[in-house]
Amino acid sequence: MERTFIAIKPDGVQRNLVGDIISRFEKKGFTLVGLKLLNVSRELAEQHYDVHKEKPFFKGLVEFITSGPVVAMVWEGDGVVASARKIIGVTNPLTAEPGTIRGDFGISIGRNIIHGSDAVETAQREISLWFKEEELASWKSSLTPWIY
Ligand code: ADP
Ligand code: MG
Repeated sequence: MERTFIAIKPDGVQRNLVGDIISRFEKKGFTLVGLKLLNVSRELAEQHYDVHKEKPFFKGLVEFITSGPVVAMVWEGDGVVASARKIIGVTNPLTAEPGTIRGDFGISIGRNIIHGSDAVETAQREISLWFKEEELASWKSSLTPWIY
């Protein structure tokens, strides 16, 4: 089953959006298989955003991600990678559609509340970066026959 990595960034946690955000993925029908609240080390932040290391915003981005607790999650389900990106909305919250997480809750690209993997291969890399295998649950939801 396809999996994606989702992280509620420090702004989303500080603004008490954790419950609302988790609820959106739950109600969509995806299955939560990993969940933890953590303070992100500089090393993890730099590895996670490695693809952006030459960008002018990289330093500020790492400062931001390490500035307070982050909720790291793994969600599972058919097409979850692309679907989560739609639920999240485009990178800039000002242009993100209302109804998306960024569109509903944000204004600034530097405070865009949430991260979601951009492709299946990226998701695999990010999940193994943030979670140990034993931190991921496998469970048969009783809801499954009503979702699929
Ligand atoms: P996404 O998170 O939608 O995949 P990117 O991978 O392009 O977006 O960028 C990673 C993160 O870097 C963004 O979510 C945002 O927090 C930050 N970021 C991107 N562009 C900018 C920018 N121009 N200024 C400040 N921060 C930015
Ligand atoms: Mg990205």
